[in-house]
Amino acid sequence: MVLDKLGTSLKNTMSKIAKAVFVDDKLINELIKDIQKALLQADVNVKLVFNLTNGIKDRIKKEDTPKGLSKREHLVNIVYEALVAFLGKESQKIEPDKKPFKIMLVGLFGSGKTTTTGKLAKYFVKRGKKVAVVGLDVHRPAAMDQLEQVAKKANVPSYINKKEKDPVKIYKEFEQELNQKDVIIVDTAGRDALSQELIKEIESVNKAIKPDERLLVISADIGQAAEAQAKKFHESCKITGVIATKMDGTAKAGGALSACAITQAPIKFLGVGEKLEDLESFNPEGFVGRLLGMGDLEALLEKAQGAISEEDAEDLSKRLLKGEFTLEDLYEQMEAMSKMGSLGKIMEMIPGMGQIKMPKDALKVQEGKLKSWKYVMQSMTRQEKQEPDIMNSSRIERIAKGSGRKVQDVRDLLKQYRQGKKMMKMFKGKDPEKAMSKLMNKMQK
Ligand code: GDP
Ligand code: MG
Repeated sequence: MVLDKLGTSLKNTMSKIAKAVFVDDKLINELIKDIQKALLQADVNVKLVFNLTNGIKDRIKKEDTPKGLSKREHLVNIVYEALVAFLGKESQKIEPDKKPFKIMLVGLFGSGKTTTTGKLAKYFVKRGKKVAVVGLDVHRPAAMDQLEQVAKKANVPSYINKKEKDPVKIYKEFEQELNQKDVIIVDTAGRDALSQELIKEIESVNKAIKPDERLLVISADIGQAAEAQAKKFHESCKITGVIATKMDGTAKAGGALSACAITQAPIKFLGVGEKLEDLESFNPEGFVGRLLGMGDLEALLEKAQGAISEEDAEDLSKRLLKGEFTLEDLYEQMEAMSKMGSLGKIMEMIPGMGQIKMPKDALKVQEGKLKSWKYVMQSMTRQEKQEPDIMNSSRIERIAKGSGRKVQDVRDLLKQYRQGKKMMKMFKGKDPEKAMSKLMNKMQK
């Protein structure tokens, strides 16, 4: 896929959100950093990256979670919308609305004009149009042959004149015939750079043809340099759109796309390979959706939802951090864990905890203990759960009998509780992540 690496990093980031139990500042900061890193690695301009992430931060700060959305979903949505806006928002389709509809391709040497001429020809043939291509690259000796071949592959007629050196004359020569077509695609000559000479040539061709679309073909592997190029071409011939080619072979495509998006010319197509069918209409929503792996993400969000409600998780963590800790809290914590399936899973879902390595066996013992404690607690009175200090031997015996557990199980639980409480007091007001991870480590012992 195009922008593989960026997609992978963004998908990882998004699944972090989906899996997180606590949507807190810590997670949000991590998210922002991840996005920045991913975009910078894709060669997106630093300033653009910070504009984007500041926008995301602002929205997170200002907006309440809309009804019907979870915090996580809202967060994912904000990121998605920001990235879509970043790439130009609306999809820019080319709909030929007159006959003939003339499309002129301009761009530097080797950017992919001739190849793209063939791709577009095929694209419109598929849509039932009568298409013709015109070769106006009079500077490169082999250019006309190349266009001829490409046209053959696309099954459209090509109009070329290998002897004439004036592109306007070539066009005029075929104009009558060309006017019979639905769509005319004009391949022009490039240069190594946008020289005065090239501008002049484009201007005169432009005047003679009066194209409906003037598309700049730009190679995505130039990264951020695409911005200056797009701007210059725009100034010289008012381009109506950009086709970014070689998206398949570069890690810098993010730079090219975002750079083009800020010029006035929207991206209309992406070239994603050398073959004629390797052309994609550019649709920012679909593109970003794929980058973020929205389909998978939705499934993941749903799954996380079922496991534990965010309010539950938040309440619990707040109380724990305040140092309030009753057996009921411990019980609730366990319930949350058992709902989620396993301790390993809850660990994964707490930001930063996924990295903590726990031996597999230790987790098994722990889960066994949890189950047993759950039964024990179900046999306690409310008062016993809220004030475990009132516990004495006769109560312990009664509880053990009632739950069908051993006296030692009850004592274990009470010991666990006292440890947990001590720790909660110690961690009062501290970093939740560290507190939780220390607590969990203690629980292993
Ligand atoms: P022009 O000088 O602008 O007409 O560029 P060409 O159409 O001749 O293309 C230059 C080279 O880029 C050729 O080798 C093409 O096969 C290659 N090319 C064009 N578009 C793409 C693309 O989207 N992906 C890849 N991988 N190569 C492309
Ligand atoms: Mg060419």
